[in-house]
Amino acid sequence: MEINVLKSPALQIMLGVLRNRKTVTTDFRRNLRYAGYLMTHEILMHEFTMTSSPIMTPIAKSKCAVLKEKILQVIVMRAGEPFADGGARLLDEINSVREIGVVDAHRVEKPGFKFEVVMGSFKVPKFDKNTIVVVYDPMLATASTLTEILKRLKKHGTPKKFIICSIIAADYGLKSLQKHFPELVVYTLGVDKELNSKGYIVPGLGDCGDRAFGTY
Ligand code: URA
Repeated sequence: MEINVLKSPALQIMLGVLRNRKTVTTDFRRNLRYAGYLMTHEILMHEFTMTSSPIMTPIAKSKCAVLKEKILQVIVMRAGEPFADGGARLLDEINSVREIGVVDAHRVEKPGFKFEVVMGSFKVPKFDKNTIVVVYDPMLATASTLTEILKRLKKHGTPKKFIICSIIAADYGLKSLQKHFPELVVYTLGVDKELNSKGYIVPGLGDCGDRAFGTY
């Protein structure tokens, strides 16, 4: 499994803002959205192939750059919503045709560091081998939710690549994903070593959904 920790100054500054407990909901959401925008830019740069298509300028024939692969963005609700929206805005700005899938999944704690994954709606189109599937899940903690989502996604097709786009990943979740899905590519801004007894990443940033939606 390939793990890419993005070190660009803007993204690392945003990570600090997101980690900081003093950051209020409006600033948190804005940073989460911008992080999604910039991380999607990095993913386009490193994972996609550029090709060209003929166009006419007002003067003469020319070419315009286009992406060779199709992109399917998968939003993991609820914290993934502002994060993926940043990526969707970038693709809107470059007029890129893409599909968006929405998955409503969350984990419920069970005794003994076990988590049951509750899957609500799963609205994801089928995809083919020319598609790169990018799953936006800001907190890759135990990977229990992601594992269930990836198993379901695999029933929708075999893409060129599955990419996980996260803000913070924990060692525990990365190891678990590596075991089950060695073909994955992960993009993140930081890898934290620990999880607490409730499965939260330490130091992490707290509950991403609560902080993005103001529901403490
Ligand atoms: N989900 C969160 O929002 N935060 C964590 O630390 C782990 C999972």
